Amino acid sequence: MKVPTYRPHEEAGYSLDLQARKALYKTRDWYRTKARSKRKHGGKPRCMVCGKLANTFDHLVGHDDDQAVRVASALGIVALERWRDRFFEGPFVWLCQTHHSSKTRAEMDGKLLDWLRDYRSSGGAS
Ligand SMILES: [Zn+2]
Repeated sequence: MKVPTYRPHEEAGYSLDLQARKALYKTRDWYRTKARSKRKHGGKPRCMVCGKLANTFDHLVGHDDDQAVRVASALGIVALERWRDRFFEGPFVWLCQTHHSSKTRAEMDGKLLDWLRDYRSSGGAS
């Protein structure tokens, strides 16, 4: 599978298709970003919701650009408007399997903001 080159200057006024999104997760920059955050959390990041050991490094405001902008603005946090730009910039959170699944479901239902309001702890994004 061919891994596309990340070009920050590239205009992407549309959502990337699923294949292109998956490819971003295989880039060296992604592994680096994830590893850096893991170190910041002492090598053992905890789920922001339940505090259990986390295994998923997650994009806080999600994949969908419209929803991401709405969520970020409602929560008063900074998030770039385009998925491709947010991908390596975050904001990120660590989640356990259970909470990553429930967050993903909420995101797909367009209810990410509700989910975050219910579950966001004082920890916030990192
Ligand atoms: Zn959890």
